[in-house]
Amino acid sequence: VQAVFRSNLSHLLDLMGSGKESLIFMKKRTKRLTAQWVLAAQRLAQKLGATWRDQKQILVHIGFLTEESGDVFSPRVLKGGPLGEMVQWADILAALYVLGHGLRVTVSLKELQSNLGVPPGRGSCPLTIPLPFDLIYTDYHGLQQMKQHMGLSFKKYRCRIRVIDTFGTEPAYNHEEYATLHGYRTNWGYWNLNPKQFMTMFPHTPDNSFMGFVSEELNETEKQLIKGGKASNMAVVYGKEASIWKLQGKEKFLGILNKYMEIHGTVYYESQRPPEVPAFVKNHGLLPQPEFQQLLRKAKLFIGFGFPYEGPAPLEAIANGCIFLQSRFSPPHSSLNHEFFRGKPTSREVDPYLPYEYTCEGMLERIHAYIQHQDFCTAPDPAPQGAHALQSPFVLAPNATHLEWAQNASLTPGAWPPVNSLRAWLAVPGRACTDTCLDHGLICEPSFFPFLNSQDAFLKLQVPCDSTESEMNHLYPAFAQPGQECYLQKEPLLFSCAGSNTKYRRLCPCRDFRKGQVALCQGCL
Ligand code: UDP
Repeated sequence: VQAVFRSNLSHLLDLMGSGKESLIFMKKRTKRLTAQWVLAAQRLAQKLGATWRDQKQILVHIGFLTEESGDVFSPRVLKGGPLGEMVQWADILAALYVLGHGLRVTVSLKELQSNLGVPPGRGSCPLTIPLPFDLIYTDYHGLQQMKQHMGLSFKKYRCRIRVIDTFGTEPAYNHEEYATLHGYRTNWGYWNLNPKQFMTMFPHTPDNSFMGFVSEELNETEKQLIKGGKASNMAVVYGKEASIWKLQGKEKFLGILNKYMEIHGTVYYESQRPPEVPAFVKNHGLLPQPEFQQLLRKAKLFIGFGFPYEGPAPLEAIANGCIFLQSRFSPPHSSLNHEFFRGKPTSREVDPYLPYEYTCEGMLERIHAYIQHQDFCTAPDPAPQGAHALQSPFVLAPNATHLEWAQNASLTPGAWPPVNSLRAWLAVPGRACTDTCLDHGLICEPSFFPFLNSQDAFLKLQVPCDSTESEMNHLYPAFAQPGQECYLQKEPLLFSCAGSNTKYRRLCPCRDFRKGQVALCQGCL
């Protein structure tokens, strides 16, 4: 069946259920953004023209909202707790629905079981039952629940699962045996999924799929209004919880900032007990999302204390014409130091700006491409692998710096992303493939690793291998200088864009990307 774009979202609101504060927040957001989604769908429909889109049956199981996982988020929605995940789930649901797919939403174990056709109760089903869904979107909590209750079906259908994973899961942490042997074990487990099945909030490592979310869009009139309506000197601090203000040294820093700007905050507090923020801060308390946006429209500066590190709010601030300043930690993350603030606030005018990938149309385009092209169930065509690999269809570029797809070589039909977008570079020692590709204005594409994992690729790049070995290591294929040894990857699940070691020069598969849509190559639609 062909999927048909939908322009009425009221049925989606019913599908989302009710009761929980988190669901109420999500539904409000969906309602508010309806016009934006509908317009985006019209634009994308025009862009795609007569392109066939399969209608998929999709289950969305939001594990972290289930009582069985403790649901610690819902009770904190109105108290300054994290909202980013809910922003993202609301947008995923809206995108799937607007794209015209068949949708079921579950936020409890019971609903999950009944939708999967698993008999309720503690035990899991020993038999494989036919799965009535082409795709399942869930999170780590949901994944655990499915593993426990789907029995053998879990193994059979795991390739249909997509895991919404805020921070991302690098290949070295995903592979059970490797993680155990090399100290990459975490509480999140190791699921041996294709790393692209993990979908992130930001485009961190291309080993995962970038899912994203949307930021509210402005038309030209609104942009002009915002530029005219900025208060002369107003800053808003990033963060909804009082704890962020207690980080050492903030008071002094804010004191300096306050000489130039009026400082506003949206820190949650209970009426009896005002939060411990400096007296000169105008604290509004936690605001409803539209009012928070209004505040950003008046401000010129959105200022982070380093924590939260990232989230939807900075994107919204930039989209509403603020400059976003965030602290840097040196060394990164681990220890706090106060030397981060360099330069004083500036009145330089910044236009409201929203990258295409955070617009409704951009998110629809990306999810459309994933749904129609990503396939983790069909085994890939045997690509050249191992020390005795076949000749690969790559040639050294005319300037002898990197490998390119030979013009007369045939393309595997259906392969996605199409391999002719591949540009393979040999990294300098200690540089990850994520960075190496960026150095060349490209993006790392892990699905191309199999094409490079051959002696032939090293040969063509004129790497002087004394010997070649095949081992499990998330940095391979790579060339180790002392010893002049070339290493190939033995375990396809460990192909990783992320990761580096000064011992190795990694062989990196890069590709081009669409401006404002890094998840997709030029020929990817
Ligand atoms: N937000 C809000 N009221 C506020 C401050 C923020 O509704 O007073 C919203 C904001 O619009 C954003 C969401 O909270 O969409 C989450 O943003 P944040 O970057 O703070 O991420 P979190 O840490 O909550 O996941």
